[in-house]
Amino acid sequence: MRVIVLGGGLLGVASAYYLQQLGHEVTVIDRHAAPAAKARGMASAPSRPPLAPPPARSLCRTAIDGLRRRLHRVSGYLTGVRHRPAARLEHMVRLATYSRETVHELRKEAGVSQDLRSAGWMRVYTDAKAFEAFTHSVRRLQALGCSLQLLSPEQAIGIEPSLQHLHGHLAGAAFTPEDTSRDPAAFAASLAFMCRAAGVRFLMNHSVVQLHARDGRIDHVELANADGERSLLRADAYVLALGTGSVPHAQALGIAMPLRRMREYSIVLPIQDMAGAPQVMLNDRHERLRIRRIETPEGERLRVCCTVRLATDAQDLPDSTHFARMLARVETLLPGVVDPSRAEFSSTLHARSASGMPLIGRTPVRNLFLNTAPGAQGWVNACGAGKSIARIVSGLSPEVEFAFAKG
Ligand SMILES: Cc1cc2nc3c(=O)[nH]c(=O)nc-3n(C[C@H](O)[C@H](O)[C@H](O)COP(=O)(O)OP(=O)(O)OC[C@H]3O[C@@H](n4cnc5c(N)ncnc54)[C@H](O)[C@@H]3O)c2cc1C
Repeated sequence: MRVIVLGGGLLGVASAYYLQQLGHEVTVIDRHAAPAAKARGMASAPSRPPLAPPPARSLCRTAIDGLRRRLHRVSGYLTGVRHRPAARLEHMVRLATYSRETVHELRKEAGVSQDLRSAGWMRVYTDAKAFEAFTHSVRRLQALGCSLQLLSPEQAIGIEPSLQHLHGHLAGAAFTPEDTSRDPAAFAASLAFMCRAAGVRFLMNHSVVQLHARDGRIDHVELANADGERSLLRADAYVLALGTGSVPHAQALGIAMPLRRMREYSIVLPIQDMAGAPQVMLNDRHERLRIRRIETPEGERLRVCCTVRLATDAQDLPDSTHFARMLARVETLLPGVVDPSRAEFSSTLHARSASGMPLIGRTPVRNLFLNTAPGAQGWVNACGAGKSIARIVSGLSPEVEFAFAKG
């Protein structure tokens, strides 16, 4: 079959690789000059935070937004659009486990490098109640293939000495020696290389303008190159993997794609105390920060990320109060380790489905398939999602039990 993958992000590239492996003739279309540009740090510059904090929201406005979110959640559970947190976690763990196995397989088969920059991943709790609640779900997660190990505060500090300042405040931690949130740049580059070697065609610097449907199928896709010149392309099947850009195209075809927009806040900080900086990737459950060392051309840095769900009527501008909270929390967790005066701030928008899970699977349009809205776990799940959508497009059953879109 001829298959067009719309979007050359990490999900599009992974989809293309596995589609080509299944014998299809694959073309990837993207407006960027290189595939997997975001994962490789080659995407257009991220938006910068405003210099002054945004105007304060009234208490009334905040309460209304909170109420609206709760109603949304409950109606989602009732209509089946949204999964309860426990069910969602199980689906996500299964997909992440499958994805990890898929990556291992790929590495064995093709020697794709996987640059593990940290010595594991640790979920850190300073709230005893939250830790207690988490311990109840751990056995179930372990049964699903998650290699999580519960740790006492002493054990956590033993593995990650940089947490010693939290002694007396730490409620417990969960640790896995495998860092699933690996740096994707080298991996994305290898995957794009393997796609090309396998014969995948990349049509870069082309924007998807419109998907034209006829008789319940996509007939062709309309493209524009960098000079605005239009062209048409036809295939037997189409995979929509445009990230947040998927929404208008789905909606134009009458496909409901309830997405929740998330803003990823990211701070990169120079490390001034190397010995005190964490070796493992830390996931602070209190402020939901992900903290890890990264290598940059200027040397090792600490990157702190936090994903915030946007209220439905929220503006597109980032809210600089999040950066202030993140910096304060880093100072509490790792006092004196970084130099906040030289912090680099950035923030990007990305999308997660209203169900809280990636949208992978069929649509009501017979030859249109989805692999989009992965949320903050996009790199982790890319290979599992890519292999699954390739199997679905090919009429094969996916190899993992997941809430795939049924169309
Ligand atoms: C700061 C930051 C840190 C992150 N950290 C992690 C992490 O540690 N672990 C993890 O698993 N995930 C992480 N993520 C999430 C991860 O980046 C995303 O989930 C993943 O990149 C999504 O991949 P995608 O292919 O769906 O979308 P994208 O990477 O957004 O790709 C979509 C592609 O579609 C193209 N496109 C869109 N519209 C059009 C159009 N009309 N025409 C042509 N092309 C179009 C875009 O150019 C883009 O290349 C992080 C994200 C950010 C921002």
